[in-house]
Amino acid sequence: MPRPIEALIHTDALAHNLRRARAHAPDAKLWAVVKANAYGHGIERAYAGLQGADGFALLDLDEAQRVRELGWRGPILLLEGCFEPRDLELCSRLHLWHTVHRESQIDWLAAHKTQQPHQVFLKMNSGMNRLGFTPAAYRSAWLRLSGLTQVESITLMTHFADADLRADAGVPGAPRGIDRQMAVFDAATEGLSGERSVSNSAAALRYAPHDSGARADWVRPGVALYGSSPDFPTRGIADWDLQPAMSLRSKLIATQELQPGDTVGYGSRFVAEQPMRIGVVACGYADGYPRSAPNGTPVLVDGVRCGLVGRVSMDTLAVDLTPVSAARPGSEVTLWGRSSRRAVLSIDEVAQPAGTVGYELMCALSARVPTVSIG
Ligand SMILES: *Cc1c(COP(=O)(O)O)cnc(C)c1O
Repeated sequence: MPRPIEALIHTDALAHNLRRARAHAPDAKLWAVVKANAYGHGIERAYAGLQGADGFALLDLDEAQRVRELGWRGPILLLEGCFEPRDLELCSRLHLWHTVHRESQIDWLAAHKTQQPHQVFLKMNSGMNRLGFTPAAYRSAWLRLSGLTQVESITLMTHFADADLRADAGVPGAPRGIDRQMAVFDAATEGLSGERSVSNSAAALRYAPHDSGARADWVRPGVALYGSSPDFPTRGIADWDLQPAMSLRSKLIATQELQPGDTVGYGSRFVAEQPMRIGVVACGYADGYPRSAPNGTPVLVDGVRCGLVGRVSMDTLAVDLTPVSAARPGSEVTLWGRSSRRAVLSIDEVAQPAGTVGYELMCALSARVPTVSIG
């Protein structure tokens, strides 16, 4: 028998979350962001649940190729654009839309011989200081692109740094929501024609319903499609009516009876205060479970909430079985997602105590975990 751990990808949840994201910006087109192998879910598996999108946005050219091979004939957007001039050959051949965020990408396009009209997303650095033209350089980049015969359309694009955080106006160094970047973007694009795209999951859920600037023509949700709340712990997936798209499930492979003073695992981080039973789960950091998870991190055993005890090892972790006295070796354990009895433990509730975000956990699911689609 194989080791009992597996990851389930819930196609129905992906489709549900896509509908929820759309409901926040019903008049906008929607890019399903499937970068990083669909946030660890697998492009092929995610594609099955996300075909209601208007396009797929990603970074790697080989992932773009895989989406085309799946039969998708609609738009595919490269969110970082081309990395070298010959990437444009693939863009022409596979009709990939691509982001232009620095001058040399325009040089490459100007030198690219093609009959294929290119759809370009021109990115502005409106304050995040990651990718994009400065507001001052944006207009001349737009003018240069619009003069190229290779270019058929230019979409105006930017990305928010603080869309997931509570705006705290006036406090130096505090998050500022989207208003400051939105104002920079609006001012620098005034009078420029073209569609617009600004919102990730957080902005699409939190701002798009009441802010037409945030809705724009295209929204670009990623993490919400996979069932993680973009502004946890302010709001959880239940508040946004999102469903986990990934369940990491395993089983108890042993139990231990502890007496007061007994300890659990490396470093003896957990010390029993009273007689108790613990379960040992076939899941560790080599499977993608965060080693930084503290005692008490929630784990479902037979659908019942229990708490992690002791340091996570490479291949195992331990849980306090006090809330589920009937548990024994073979009992189902849900590390995040849905139990087979449909109890839900959101990935955010595991990420938060471990000092990270749902994004990182889902992307870090280990290759050794067998993954299957259901629903
Ligand atoms: C990853 C990414 C997104 C999606 O972000 P989420 O926070 O996962 O919704 C949107 N736009 C760009 C440019 C991205 O790189």
